[in-house]
Formats: sequence, structure tokens, C-alpha cells
Amino acid sequence: MDSIDRLHLLSEQMELEPAEEHHENEARPVCFTPKQRNAVFVHQAQLPNGQSIKLLKTLLTSACERDCYYCPFRAGRDFRRATFKPEEFANVFIELNRKGIAEGTFLSSGIAGGGMRTQDQLLDTADILRNKLGFRGYIHLKIMPGAEKAQVERSMQLADRVSVNLEAPNTNRLAKLAPHKQFLDELLQPLRWVEEIRRSQSAYKGWNSRWPSTTTQFVVGGADENDLELLTTTAWLNKNVRLKRAYFSAFNPIADTPFENKTATNPLREHRLYQASFLLRDYGFDLEDIPFTDNGFLPLHSDPKLAWAQLNLRDQPIEINRAERRDLIRIPGIGSKGAEAILRARKTNKLNDLSTLRKLGIMVERSSPFILLNGKRAANQLSLF
Ligand code: SF4
Repeated sequence: MDSIDRLHLLSEQMELEPAEEHHENEARPVCFTPKQRNAVFVHQAQLPNGQSIKLLKTLLTSACERDCYYCPFRAGRDFRRATFKPEEFANVFIELNRKGIAEGTFLSSGIAGGGMRTQDQLLDTADILRNKLGFRGYIHLKIMPGAEKAQVERSMQLADRVSVNLEAPNTNRLAKLAPHKQFLDELLQPLRWVEEIRRSQSAYKGWNSRWPSTTTQFVVGGADENDLELLTTTAWLNKNVRLKRAYFSAFNPIADTPFENKTATNPLREHRLYQASFLLRDYGFDLEDIPFTDNGFLPLHSDPKLAWAQLNLRDQPIEINRAERRDLIRIPGIGSKGAEAILRARKTNKLNDLSTLRKLGIMVERSSPFILLNGKRAANQLSLF
């Protein structure tokens, strides 16, 4: 297989791994040359700073010695695998970059020869890109289970984002998904190291004078965990290791794995988990505020912010002209920008009607049952629209 054939296989196989915000769900196949048989798969992705780039998500190798029950790359599964050496990948990526096909890369790997050796391969690749080929674009590096602290630190010096996939919310659940991964020592510990390094070396930063952001991923429904377990761990990570983003991937069975007959997780559950995780991260909600069912799941029929407001604000609506920012953003239909717009607008005028709020970008159909405008129930104005 030549380099592009391998990149075709490896970038296609990474399709399911969430890493950055994608503008579209599916990767776009892009041909290297008009005559080329195989395309590489590139996502249009939004970076943490809001910039939109063409992102190549790929593995260095799809060979793996571990046997996680849900994973298409697990050892012994019969499918076509491919491998790059660091120098080979760096050279082919830089060619893609020079042709304008890929502007950044998310680089992961199956584990071959242990976590430390695999991390070295990832580090060598990033090092060649940065220091030999002068690549100044976006690099997201995966940290392998079993990587050492010095390797985590080197990854942070080379990358814009580093990630460790926890896969499950705790030790017991991980044992059901990936019997040979150790939750505390192999997965959680690298995330703790990232935060330790950020705190202890505030003067020294990464390659572009900033330490990278950190993300993780959970396989939702793979270990029969509930949403409370997933969000408890997410809230802990937000607070203790300043996680930038938790990704939730609804479990989908893969043929020829031990979980091939397990039922797929409803994608709506994934969506509700994202909504609840944003409430925890950005809206000042505590875990106790999130409405769970008796068995620890988010209700599927209602978004968690709306469910909270129905329980807490319907009889105690919030006065838009007096509320603080932290209370405004708890109202359905009002986000961070909407709250800022309200705070600015009410410096000059009292806000008396829904049409004024609508002009400020507020989704008044959602917010009106839960607010007062100058002491009056805003919901009564809805018939005017
Ligand atoms: S270690 Fe990673 S690539 Fe290997 S089987 Fe487990 S999840 Fe898949």
C-alpha cells in the first residue's frame, strides 16, 4: 500500500472518533491528485479559538494489542490494517498541508509495543512536523494508556490539544468495556498530570505560548452506566483538571467484537448528555440541579435546562430587569450572549415587552413562561405574537 492508500484507510477508520466541533457530521473525501484511486477523509472542524480548518483525523496505526470489547481495532479482529512510521506520516501530511487539503491533524493510534512506545511514535511525528518541517498549524495529540509523565509533558509542548479517552465513568464500568485498561493509573492519571504541569509551569507554555486544552471521550451505553455516573465524572473533571470538553459517543455495535449483539444507544441520549454537560461547564449548574430520573438517566423527552426551569421557575419567574447574569443564563432561551445583551440594554431602558427581548436575540417562546417583565408575567404577551 502506498502512503495515500494507507491514509485513506486510516482516516476513514477514524471517522467515528469525535475530537473537535465538526461543521458537518461526515468527513469529506479529498483526492490528492486527479488520478488517485483513494481519497483521504478530511473534516471541516471548528477549533477551540473559533477558527474553522480542514482537519485530518487519523491513526498512526490501526494495529492494536489490546482487546477493548467495543472497538473495531481490537486485537485479533479480521480487517485491513495499516501503519505509518513517524517520518512517513509527517512527510505525507506536510504535502497535504502544502496542497491546501489539510490544515491541521488529530493524531491517535492503536497500541503497538505498549503505551510508552506508542506515545513515542506520536511524539516523534509531532516533533518532526514542528521542528523539522516547520509546521505551525493545529495538532491534537492523543495520550496513550500507559504513557509516562515526561511524555505527557512533551505532548503538551508540541500540541494545541491533548486528549485521553476515559471511555467509561469509573473503574467498575471500564472493566465491562475494556478489561485491560486501568481507569485510575492509565487514564485518569495522565489527565491529572496535564493539570499539574499547567499549574507548576505557568511561566513556560507550549509551542505557541499556550498550554493545550484537554478533552476526553465516553462510550455512552457501552458499560450499562447511567447518565448520573457519566456527568458525575464530567463535573469532577471540569473542576479538577479543567477539562475543556467531554465528548459523548453513543455506543454502536461493531461486527466481530464481543459486543456485536449489544443494543445500540439512542443518539438522543448522547444529545441530552451534551446539553447537561454544557449546563455544568458554562451555565453554573451543579450536578444536584440536573433533573435525573429515579434510575439516574436524563429524561429524553425534554432538554435538561427546560426540565429544571419547569421545576424551579414556573412558580417563581425571574425579573428580567433585575436578575444577575448567573440567573439570566439559567432561563431557557437565554444563553451567554443573550444575557450580556439584556444587561447592556437595561442600562438605558426598562425592558417591558417580549418584542424588545426578541430583538436582543432571546428565544422568547422558550423563555416567556419563566420571566417577569417589569413585574408582569411575560407569558401573557405571547398571544400578541
Ligand atoms: S486500546 Fe484503543 S485502539 Fe486498542 S482496542 Fe482499545 S480502544 Fe481500540
